Amino acid sequence: MVSSASGYAADDTYAEIGVIGGSGLYSFLDDVREVPVTTPYGDPSDSLFLGEVAGRRVAFLPRHGRRHHIPPHRIDYRANLWALRSVGVRQVLGPCAVGGLRPEYGPGTLLVPDQLIDRTKNRAQTYFDGEPRPDGAVPNVVHVSFADPYCPDGRQAALKAARARDWQAVDGGTLVVVEGPRFSTRAESRWHAANGWSVVGMTGHPEAVLARELGLCYTSLTLVTDLDAGTETGEGVSHTEVLRVFGENVGRLRDVLFDAIAALPATADRDCLCVHAHDGWDLGIELP
Ligand SMILES: [Zn+2]
Repeated sequence: MVSSASGYAADDTYAEIGVIGGSGLYSFLDDVREVPVTTPYGDPSDSLFLGEVAGRRVAFLPRHGRRHHIPPHRIDYRANLWALRSVGVRQVLGPCAVGGLRPEYGPGTLLVPDQLIDRTKNRAQTYFDGEPRPDGAVPNVVHVSFADPYCPDGRQAALKAARARDWQAVDGGTLVVVEGPRFSTRAESRWHAANGWSVVGMTGHPEAVLARELGLCYTSLTLVTDLDAGTETGEGVSHTEVLRVFGENVGRLRDVLFDAIAALPATADRDCLCVHAHDGWDLGIELP
């Protein structure tokens, strides 16, 4: 068995890049291998599906499970990020469907946010809470920097990939993440828009902060599937419409993701703020 520069066995249970998104993103790849993984936090949403894109080893994880049976507020985000890191992943791309909060961000808009507002209510959003885990390990209390929640290098890779395919992705904006699973009321939606926030979704947090806590690069790619309730004048957001628009765009989203994967820096060459998330901290637990 050959060991890679990162110390992981260069076999088919290793991946350096993770993609958290639906099965439409990897089901066309040749030689995808299903790898079940468990973690100290429980099982992730599904097995990891490992394959190769542009010569890079990639682990795909269906965020809601392959049958799409796990709603946003019941996803075990800690298990998902931990599972990815445990097979070697150090950079994560997180595509997700969102509602547009400005009339110009209509269905089909791709926006790569640079800021995040957390309006979730009941989600475990840290590994470092000082509480003993089921396996007896006790993490210390750690406060990571989160001023810039997304990886600057990952964002640039995503934006360049989109533009090279004539998809004029919006560079920056604020993703507000709500608890769900219901959609927003018109009043909530108008309030989100009045604050200057750009798009609204249900899964971008705590995914982003848990990635940061594990020292992973995380990039969010938001695909607008609808204008949110306060922005349009019709009946409000319907799940059917969200699915229809997502289905129409999943092919080009996959193309952009694959080009972005090819453009991400090699694991050993990462030199971004994400790599320094733990500087000065004693974590108390071993990361996988
Ligand atoms: Zn980074």
